[in-house]
Amino acid sequence: MNSKTVYISLGSNLGDRAAMLQRAIAAMNSTGIHVVRQSSLYITEPVGAPGQAWFLNAAVQAETSLLPVQLLHTLLKIERQLGRRRITSHGPRTIDLDILFYGSSVIRSRELEVPHPRLTERRFILVPLAQIAPEFRHPTLHQSVTQLLAETVDRSEVRFWHAAAET
Ligand code: ADP
Ligand code: MG
Repeated sequence: MNSKTVYISLGSNLGDRAAMLQRAIAAMNSTGIHVVRQSSLYITEPVGAPGQAWFLNAAVQAETSLLPVQLLHTLLKIERQLGRRRITSHGPRTIDLDILFYGSSVIRSRELEVPHPRLTERRFILVPLAQIAPEFRHPTLHQSVTQLLAETVDRSEVRFWHAAAET
């Protein structure tokens, strides 16, 4: 099979956030997106739309033979299955699944942009990604994830999350 290594970002700030992330990973594994590495869970400050609940974020590495648009459609279907409703564009969401990298492919269509265009400005993406893929090189910026994290202008808070610490 012609399988590709892909990186996917997961986020949730509505409902049982940790359960949402685990259910999304289980759904990926049963739809041809084979998760081979998973970051810790991080609790992160909302960026872009202050005043809403903090997010839980994670990143995964997966192997898939789905083509890029098939991968996107499969992730959007999982979002719908987990109850995501798009009400406002940056509003609270039960689950957000974004494609960060699809191998070293560069895709710029109306529907899909890979590498994800905003990953360099988001510590909530870069911190989990640096845990599982520190040496992976951005195909157009030619910097590793570790370098991107060291150089990002984003200063938003990203901390390890422990279920026991939840109140
Ligand atoms: P955001 O993740 O920026 O908050 P949404 O999750 O609402 O926004 O995504 C809206 C649309 O973004 C999706 O329907 C999809 O067509 C598009 N999109 C473009 N590039 C990507 C990508 N790399 N990963 C996921 N969605 C993407
Ligand atoms: Mg998204």
